Amino acid sequence: MPAKTAPAKTAPAKLDYPRIVVPPPGPRARKIIALDKEWSSPSYIKEYPLVPASGRGAMLEDVDGNRYLDWMAGIAVNATGYNHPKIAAAIHEAADKFLHICGTDFYYESLALLCQRLARLAPGRDKHRVFLTNSGTEAVEGAVKLARAHTKRPHLIAFEGAFHGRTYAAMSLTCSKVKYRAGFGPLLPEVSHLPYDNPYRGGDPLAAARALFASRVSPREVAAVFMEPIQGEGGYIMPRPEFVQAWRRICDEFGILLVFDEIQSGVGRTGKMWACEHFEVEPDILLTAKGLGSGLPIGAIVAKEKVMTWGQGTHGSTFGGNPVCCAAALATLELVENELCANAARIGERLLAGLRRLQDKHSSIGDVRGVGLMIGVEFVKGRQDRVPDPELVGKLEQLAFRKGLLLLGCGQGVIRVAPPLVLDARGADAGLAILDECLSELGA
Ligand code: PLP
Repeated sequence: MPAKTAPAKTAPAKLDYPRIVVPPPGPRARKIIALDKEWSSPSYIKEYPLVPASGRGAMLEDVDGNRYLDWMAGIAVNATGYNHPKIAAAIHEAADKFLHICGTDFYYESLALLCQRLARLAPGRDKHRVFLTNSGTEAVEGAVKLARAHTKRPHLIAFEGAFHGRTYAAMSLTCSKVKYRAGFGPLLPEVSHLPYDNPYRGGDPLAAARALFASRVSPREVAAVFMEPIQGEGGYIMPRPEFVQAWRRICDEFGILLVFDEIQSGVGRTGKMWACEHFEVEPDILLTAKGLGSGLPIGAIVAKEKVMTWGQGTHGSTFGGNPVCCAAALATLELVENELCANAARIGERLLAGLRRLQDKHSSIGDVRGVGLMIGVEFVKGRQDRVPDPELVGKLEQLAFRKGLLLLGCGQGVIRVAPPLVLDARGADAGLAILDECLSELGA
């Protein structure tokens, strides 16, 4: 696309939203939804009838002129908002040069620069190397191959509640909802799922690991442990640091690779570049995607150089690290490092405090947890027995949508608060007010 078709959007976002001018879905939205329903795969979920036409910062406008305040960022993707001028400019500049050459087979500067930047951003002092992918699940697939090829061991460990993607190896590690796996077997063999740490629900999550190693799987046959340092799809669960640190020790003791899937939690979302920095634990392999390209499809396997030992031609990708996506990722990292990490930390504290005030007022809120702009609000039928209330979350999502606030559930009865990292104090307060209003209306 030529640069002249991309007007620079430099005006600061005004809080002229949420603004519902026609109850959604309006007439234009209904037409598009009908077309989609007729032709698209029935496997798509479609949380609510949102049909965007344009966006700016943390605001989305739909095809009927309704404006929404976004607290979900297209599932934690739009790190820099919907149309950041610096991202748009980087994309236009790259698109004006060339669209594709295949980074697996040839060289270009943006791919090399992005690999360098991600390698340098990896936690710890080791030299890292980077393989670029098109998506999160492709990064997970590659990491499974790399871990097995490097260690020459077959077994993989992942956690209950984990979400790592929908392709075969990633799906075999995924364990958040049975519908992601049911009917698709046989899945990858040699995968064990162990309990994740859930401070709200308690228990000894390491007991099952001890039992596994004592009776079923030798730790010396385990290639890798795949862990989300903060669980995403499984319920925005932040484990205790000791849990993450214990797994680092176990991996060190038995020569197992520790893989952090930071596909949802990374790129500044938690107020630090990587969520694992909150626990002071370094992985051997770090996976990123989602927010990395601000919406363009790009992910990465970032591995210690001593681990990324696969040979030439053993792994590749036609589109992975496409030059336009690399440009978007480089511009995203620049913004995240320079301003958005700090903003996520600051606005995250404001949101956490506001959500805890709502917890004092509404007995349906059992738990508020998280860090930065990765916050889980868990709804329960009663605070005493903590039975999750997914029906309430369903109703809340729909009602908030009709009032102009975009929310998204996860886990069992949890709202994930994952707005674009550009959210400001006004956007935080406006969303809290709508949430409060919704919960009062629902008698929750
Ligand atoms: N890993 C985590 C932690 C995720 O949250 C997701 C997507 O939600 C994935 C992997 C898969 O990413 P993708 O949908 O880009 O394949």
